[in-house]
Amino acid sequence: MSTTDMTTIPHHRAFVAENQLAYVTAAMHGKWSSGYGPFGERAAALLREITGAAHVLLTTSATTALDLSTLLLDVGPGDEVIVPSYTFVSTASVWVQRGAVPVFADCRPDTLNIDEDLIEAAVTARTRAVVVTHYAGVACEMDKITKIAERHGLALVEDNAHGLGGTYRDRPLGTFGRLAALSFHATKNVQCGEGGALLAAGDDLARRAEIIRDKGTNRRQFFRGEVDRYRWVDVGTNYMQAEPLAAQLVAQLEAFGEIQRRRQEVWRAYHDGLAAWARDNGVARPAVPPECVHPAHIYYLLLPHAAGRTALIAHLAERGVQAVFHYSPLHASPAGEKYGRAAPGGCPVAESVADRQVRLPLYPGLDDGELGRVLDSVTSFKVS
Ligand SMILES: *Cc1c(COP(=O)(O)O)cnc(C)c1O
Repeated sequence: MSTTDMTTIPHHRAFVAENQLAYVTAAMHGKWSSGYGPFGERAAALLREITGAAHVLLTTSATTALDLSTLLLDVGPGDEVIVPSYTFVSTASVWVQRGAVPVFADCRPDTLNIDEDLIEAAVTARTRAVVVTHYAGVACEMDKITKIAERHGLALVEDNAHGLGGTYRDRPLGTFGRLAALSFHATKNVQCGEGGALLAAGDDLARRAEIIRDKGTNRRQFFRGEVDRYRWVDVGTNYMQAEPLAAQLVAQLEAFGEIQRRRQEVWRAYHDGLAAWARDNGVARPAVPPECVHPAHIYYLLLPHAAGRTALIAHLAERGVQAVFHYSPLHASPAGEKYGRAAPGGCPVAESVADRQVRLPLYPGLDDGELGRVLDSVTSFKVS
């Protein structure tokens, strides 16, 4: 280990694109600083290019994009929605706001994605939707899951907060569900501080999403000359993204190739550099099924036991490397227990994984010296 630089390598550093500040300045001096300005239009167009989605609506976050989904699907009290237990809170919490019950399904031990073979056992007469999170941007088993959704008449929603740029059998993530959410939170691959987008399959759904996002008014149709005045026509809220944030998003999306190149290099360096160490120590590295291309959002390790995870994090901290872990399984969290329930069989895999997982620093600004230091720090640890 180098003793010349003991500055802590943080788990995360937000990437700032070259044009980011210039675009914000332009947005602030432009005629339009609320939603629907030229940067907003450009960001949506870039996202349509990357995802191939027919309709992209910028929102204030992935959480609000998911919340729009609950309104678009008219989910209400007594309805049930199948969600993974091993995911971020918002995947499940938005449904609870509509009075629906999240039913938590366990994850696969390899990809940590929702276990497709456990979904059907969770379906009841009240089930309305299945939500999948593509963990670390590695796709869920979409062939099986889309068939299950079709067979039971369930809406499929993708929480694609991790997976912008990822594919499953060459099809971009975010285009399998009727609705999909993207996140541009500071910790995501493409970031504008706080931001998100809703991808909608189908013109009717997109048209209604536009209205609900705009306080339940048909103001956009009025501006396009499709109606003679604008009125309150549906349920609604305000999830519009303001222009200065959309401007940051444009700069980031224009740098998407650059962001992804370095993220992939770091991911690959970890994966190759830790292979022997992982084998010798009974540690599992991320599994990527052959049909999945992922955008290197997270690099994680699964230690053989919780004590090993705790010891590794402490060992790394002593060497100036910040490693973190997530998610606390939702089925066993206070609000998850109050508002939802676990699917039959519970979620033992999620519980086990949550105790053993650790994430390494992964961002474009991680330089080769830092990368080497992370690798040396990990491989100097022995699991006991
Ligand atoms: C980050 C994240 C969210 C929430 O995104 P926000 O834009 O912060 O609302 C939702 N789901 C997953 C899986 C996430 O990682």
